[in-house]
Amino acid sequence: MTIPLVQTYRIARYILEQKLKGNKRYPLVLMLEPLFQCNLACSGCGKIDYPDEILRKRVSVEDALKAVDECGAPVVSIPGGEPLIHKEMPQIVEGIIARKKFVYLCTNALLLEQKLDQYTPSPYLTFSIHLDGNRERHDKAVDREGTFDRAVSAIKAARARGFRVTANCTLYAGEDPEDVANFFDYAMTLGIEGVMMSPGYSYQHAPKQDVFLGRRKSKELFREIFKAGKKRKSKWHFNQSSLFIDFLAGNQSYQCTPWANPTYNVFGWQKPCYLLVDEGYATSFKDLMESTDWEKYGVGRNPKCDNCMAHCGYEGTAVEHTIASPLTALNVFLFGPRLDGEMAPELPVLHGGQAPGVAIPVDRIGGLTRRD
Ligand code: SF4
Ligand code: SF4
Repeated sequence: MTIPLVQTYRIARYILEQKLKGNKRYPLVLMLEPLFQCNLACSGCGKIDYPDEILRKRVSVEDALKAVDECGAPVVSIPGGEPLIHKEMPQIVEGIIARKKFVYLCTNALLLEQKLDQYTPSPYLTFSIHLDGNRERHDKAVDREGTFDRAVSAIKAARARGFRVTANCTLYAGEDPEDVANFFDYAMTLGIEGVMMSPGYSYQHAPKQDVFLGRRKSKELFREIFKAGKKRKSKWHFNQSSLFIDFLAGNQSYQCTPWANPTYNVFGWQKPCYLLVDEGYATSFKDLMESTDWEKYGVGRNPKCDNCMAHCGYEGTAVEHTIASPLTALNVFLFGPRLDGEMAPELPVLHGGQAPGVAIPVDRIGGLTRRD
């Protein structure tokens, strides 16, 4: 299974409308963070290190739907924190679906089975389940035994009731390509639509700092994983564009387009993206688009971005490239990304090196986020 045709059609129609209006920067996916509180404390998480009074805050149903309307993106991703902790999440989801937007509710699934009754299967609703690998790897990444089994049980329960389900897999340092390939094989047996994968962003305030991959290492890892995949019988499905996958495999020199995935959370509209949290907030979506100095961000432009290959920054770029070069995208879709030879060059580094007061390791692993 891949992304349903109706979803592809609506997104394509939306992009065409934006092009016809002459919009240079437009949102594709709203990242709606309704809370930062979580029932896990994963090693690579950069979202939960807030004081209690912030963790207790919730985006209200009214504010969430206002953000959806202001933004106008055809897809709304709801990460967190753990969205299922939010008591009004069913109303938020219902309101978004009523607007015919496609919702990806990102959850670690610990609460999913007990809350499934609060939701109705719909082509507009997908549960995106956090699974960072096979049982051992996932339970280690989330720092709690038994989490993998509960997530898998919840996936099966959701699929049995007819819900759309994907898996959201973040890769960290020390991954074994064969293990990841085994996990993708297993994930395909669960009846999910696909896996969304990304190298972990190096949040400065994540509980552990030695878990993050550098850019070059990320690309090498993805090439090895895809090589392992070529020897497998099962066909993997990814919930991502083929050119984003080509980018992960080191074949594209993309610049970030953070406006494609704007973020709204308990602080307001976060500049410039879902990952950076110390760059200020805007009071409205219009204010975000107009007052953010977009040219300050992206690989080579800002030390905080140099290690980033996250889909919230580069999937929008890949979609733009797909529109400009559909045959290139089709070629990758049909035959997979190139896995040997030179990688596409990195964009030139235009910033002066490191952010004030912060040392950047030789391989530029250090990410610099969060206020101190
Ligand atoms: S990564 Fe997700 S599941 Fe893990 S602590 Fe952070 S918000 Fe919770
Ligand atoms: S490169 Fe990454 S961290 Fe920087 S603006 Fe883009 S998405 Fe955000």
